[in-house]
Formats: sequence, C-alpha cells, structure tokens
Amino acid sequence: MTVEIPGWKHTYSGKVRDLYRPADETDTRMLVVASDRVSAFDHVLSPGIPGKGELLTTLSLWWFDQLAGADGGTPVPNHLTGEPAPDEVAGRAMIVRSLDMLPIECVVRGYLTGSGWAEYRAEGTVCGIALPEGLQDGDRLPEPIYTPAFKAPMGEHDENISFERSVELVGAERAAQLRDTSLEIYHRAAATAETRGLILADTKFEFGLDEDGVLRLADEVLTSDSSRYWDAEAWRTGSTPTERMASFDKQIVRNWLAANWDKQGTPPELPAEIVERTVARYRELLAKLTD
Ligand code: ATP
Ligand code: MG
Repeated sequence: MTVEIPGWKHTYSGKVRDLYRPADETDTRMLVVASDRVSAFDHVLSPGIPGKGELLTTLSLWWFDQLAGADGGTPVPNHLTGEPAPDEVAGRAMIVRSLDMLPIECVVRGYLTGSGWAEYRAEGTVCGIALPEGLQDGDRLPEPIYTPAFKAPMGEHDENISFERSVELVGAERAAQLRDTSLEIYHRAAATAETRGLILADTKFEFGLDEDGVLRLADEVLTSDSSRYWDAEAWRTGSTPTERMASFDKQIVRNWLAANWDKQGTPPELPAEIVERTVARYRELLAKLTD
C-alpha cells in the first residue's frame, strides 16, 4: 500500500522504505519515503510503529546536517538534494540523488553486543578482528572497529565479511576510503551523542557514487533503526546487561521478539506495550539529541 504522489512513480519497496522515481525518466533523482514499518531478524513485523517514519526521517536529516558541517567538522558529501518532500509524504521523505550504491554495509562498533558479542563469545573475534579476553556484553571496545557486511540482494541476509573480502568487492582504494570515512563519521557522531548523555554503541552507513564519481553518504544515517543508542548514565551505573544497555532503538523490539518467537514461520504480533515503549524511546532520543 503506497501513496500516490503526482510527478513520481513508485518503483520499489524495501522492508522499511518506499522508493519513487520521477515520472520524467531523464530525471535522476529519487524520493525515499520512510514508512512506519519495523523489521527485525529480516522480517517486517506487525503492527507498525506509529510515527516511526517521521521520527527516523527527522533524525536522519538532523545528522546529515551535523555531518555537512553544523557540528564544526569537515563536510561529508551526502545524497540529499535539499528539496522539500512532496506534501503527500511531508516529514517522512527525502529527495535524493540516485547513486550507484556500493554493495557494502559499513558497520562501526564502539561497544561489544549483538552479533559482535555472539561471535566474540564463540571465537574471541568480531568479523575476524581479535579482541582482548574477558570482555562482557555491552563493554566498550579498546577502540572503535570497522566490521563491513556484504549487502545481500533483495530479501537475502546481509553477511559479515572481512576487510580483505571488501577489498575484493570494491578494490583496495575504495575499501580503505569506506573504512576511514566510516570510522571518522562514527567518531564525530559518538562525540556529539556523548555531549547529550548518549552512547552510540554501533551504527551502519551506506555509501554510493554520484555521476562525477564522488563518494556520498546515502540511505538513512545514525537513526534508531541503523544504530544502537544507550543511556550513558545507565551504562555506567547499571549492573546487568539489561540495565547497562537501556536502548533508544530497535533493540526493544528485537529483545521482545527473541523472547517470544522461535524464528520459525511468521513472527507474532507486537503487543501494544512494546509498540508504545518503542515510539516513546524514539521520541526521547530525538529530543535528547536535537533539543
Ligand atoms: P531490502 O530492499 O532488502 O528490504 P532494506 O530493508 O535495507 O533492504 P530499505 O531500507 O527499506 O531496504 O530501502 C532503502 C533502499 O534504498 C536500500 O536498498 C538502500 O541501499 C537504497 N538507497 C538509499 N539511498 C540511496 C541512493 N541515494 N541511491 C540509490 N539507492 C539508495
Ligand atoms: Mg536499509
């Protein structure tokens, strides 16, 4: 179910976003509309989270602006054209340059949890990177690490890969540029988050190339779907993983699902309480960051 937007043609729906192209086929822009759909473990869940599309778009736009120099750092080129979204989808859409996307999800982790923690517990490494012994779920890493994933074609699972594999996929120079740019953006964003009492535990970036071959930050950026945000105070004082990782992100949904679903067949309906808690935390994150 997608909205009709004059001048735009719906072309694709991902798990969370709906993509439109201009009716004029020579026009290379794209309209990215964030829905209220929520996905976890590669399944779109039901019901959606009311207001999520708008909250995530607001957050993305705020971060794009920070990274374009509002935070005082060197501007990072991005995919926004700067035009306002059409009225039909105002507040939850961005008009962007359609880029040649690189098939790599650029993940940076400053803290150990999730799939990183699972691999560390089994092998002592994260995406093949050796880490010190004795780390616990939610611990801060000695320094942030870049752990790329191969962006699987539609509907397939993304796959964690080594840096060497990313070199095979995009070439040595490009792979190094993706790593260095991702680490730099993570450092900047984590520093901004810290001044607001937030920990940016990990995040994922996507990049693409424009017609002139310029690398641009694309997709959504530093949202509560693409990142883990924790309360810094709770992390310092908490004694259990749950207390330490008081999240402002999709982890609320993942945790509920992990406890109530065996990952076979269709996932169960999210209870109203989980939906409400998730919206409330998303709103709180936006307020903490941008107020
Ligand atoms: P799937 O398509 O497997 O469901 P997804 O859940 O990541 O993947 P969405 O996030 O809903 O999909 O849709 C956004 C899509 O748009 C992603 O495939 C993303 O890589 C792509 N994208 C984001 N920005 C741009 C851009 N500037 N140019 C081209 N593609 C882009
Ligand atoms: Mg996506």
